[in-house]
This record gives sequence, structure tokens and C-alpha cells, in this order.
Amino acid sequence: MLQLIRPRVHDIGGFTVGRALPSPQRRSVGPFVFFDHIGPALLSADQAMAVRPHPHIGLATVTYLWEGAMMHRDSLGYAQEVLPGDVNWMTAGRGIVHSERTPERLVGVEHAMHGLQTWAALPRAHEETAPAFAHHPASTLPVVAADGATLTVVAGHGFGARSPVAVLAETLYVSIDLRAGASLQIPAEHAERALYPVAGELTLDGVELPMSTLAVLDPDTRPVLRAITDARVMLIGGEPLDGPRFLWWNFVSSSRERIEQAKAEWRADRLGQVPGETERIPLPEP
Ligand code: MN
Repeated sequence: MLQLIRPRVHDIGGFTVGRALPSPQRRSVGPFVFFDHIGPALLSADQAMAVRPHPHIGLATVTYLWEGAMMHRDSLGYAQEVLPGDVNWMTAGRGIVHSERTPERLVGVEHAMHGLQTWAALPRAHEETAPAFAHHPASTLPVVAADGATLTVVAGHGFGARSPVAVLAETLYVSIDLRAGASLQIPAEHAERALYPVAGELTLDGVELPMSTLAVLDPDTRPVLRAITDARVMLIGGEPLDGPRFLWWNFVSSSRERIEQAKAEWRADRLGQVPGETERIPLPEP
């Protein structure tokens, strides 16, 4: 029995995304508590992504693009352009501030944009860890090739390979490309798993998988993914969370009080400054 989650549309600042997590049906898959599908879209010359500085606590943001580019700046002083195939892993811990914008070189230039931003909740023991930022170029990620399948292990481990991206909980995050006619059995090594097809036509154990829909797999199953046409799908998951999480705006915590504290910190502008930025997204007030 598959659980199918259709993303809802959200405006993130000059740009809309499809948000599959959190959803009324499902709060998390492995450590992932948030799942935004960016595009696929063609940004016209007068369109740009402009996510102004905003804070996070208690999570790691994971940015992975198939097309386009994104400029990340944060309060630790990192300024890093994310290109297709790279992985940006930003650990918010006790607090970080960042902005995400179309790189200057692409402002005014028509270009395609397609990718994912997911948030992994930090294990309770690491929620108050020091903020950190890690960028891993595409060339550093392991690629497993087998019978018409190309698997890029973006974070965590799977299919016998492990990503160099440091994670705090057991994680599954694999970008899968299949040639038309290719099949791939999904291993059962991770307790929670979901597939998110982004291109082509796919079946799972003979049943059509709807595009841009998060399909949560039953535990301990080894379903067979089959590509009818050339296809691309993301596989996410990992160990279940070590307890429930509160999500409010950009904050994730096992403690409701800690969320209130983060609200007060952002109101007072005490979570850090992003060099080169003068704007900020104010705390949403009721
Ligand atoms: Mn953010």
C-alpha cells in the first residue's frame, strides 16, 4: 500500500514551489520533515528567486538542483553558488540565518530551474549543535551504475555507497536516473522510504507512479521500479525521528518552548547577520 502525497503550491519569494512535506497525511519520512520541489520552471528575464535572509533552528537544509543555480549566503559568512549536482548541507543547530537568490550572473537571463530543498530534523542530542555549512561539488558524490540505472548518493548511504556529506541521523537520499526499459529494486535497508518522480514515466511493481508526487513505501518491502521512458526519481528516507517535532515557520524543534525562544530571538534580530545583505524576512505575526 503506497501513501501518495500531492504537493501543495507555496510562494517562497518570486517563485512557487510544490511542498510535499509536511502534509496532513504525513509529517516525516526518515529525518525529512520538509520537502519542497523547486520547478521545473523556465524563469523569464524579469523573474528571479529572492528568498531574503531568514533564520532556522533544529534542522539541516539540503539543496540539490538538476537545473539552474542558486546563490546561498549565510550568517557564518559562506557565500556559495549551488550548481546542478552539487549538494549544500546547512546545519542550523541553535541558529543560523541565510538567503537564497538567483545568482547575479543569471538575473535578467532566461534560465531553467529544477531541484529540491528538503529539511532534515536534527536528532534531539544535536538540536543545539553549532551551526555549520558544507558544500559538496557534484564530482565528489558517489555514483553507482547498474543495468540502465545511474544512482547518485547525495546524502547518507544506499546501494552499497556512502555520500561524503556528514549527516547526524541515518539518511537515504539518492537521485536515480533510469533509461527506458531499465528496472531497479529498492532495497529495504532503511526503515522509512519514499520515491518522488520528477521526469519520465515509471511504474512500481507494475503500478504507475504519478509524477511530482511523494510515494511513501511500505517498510520492509523491496518493490521494483521500472522506467517506461527515460526517467528520473529521488529516493529519500532513513531512520524514523527520535520523537515528534514541532514545525513553525522556519523553525524545527522537539520543544515548543524552544520555538518560542527562536521567535523572540528573530524578533530581536539576535540570530546573526548575513554579510552583503540588508534585507530580512520579518517573523510572521498573527
Ligand atoms: Mn531557508
